[in-house]
Amino acid sequence: MKNDRFFTQTRCDRCGRSLAGGRTMSMFNEETICMDCADKERERPDYKAACDAEIAAVRAGNRNFKGIGL
Ligand SMILES: [Zn+2]
Repeated sequence: MKNDRFFTQTRCDRCGRSLAGGRTMSMFNEETICMDCADKERERPDYKAACDAEIAAVRAGNRNFKGIGL
């Protein structure tokens, strides 16, 4: 896990909403985000590139990959 606060924080890093409805890690950076923000990420044209970069980093043994950035 690249974000130590992932399980303890209560608000979305991006929009500030409560994370009571679910949380996930951003695919683009180290933010913990709500499911609405996650949906918006998936609609981005560069979402696949972000996923591919994450997978490639993990495969290369880099478990602290910071993401490609927003
Ligand atoms: Zn959010």
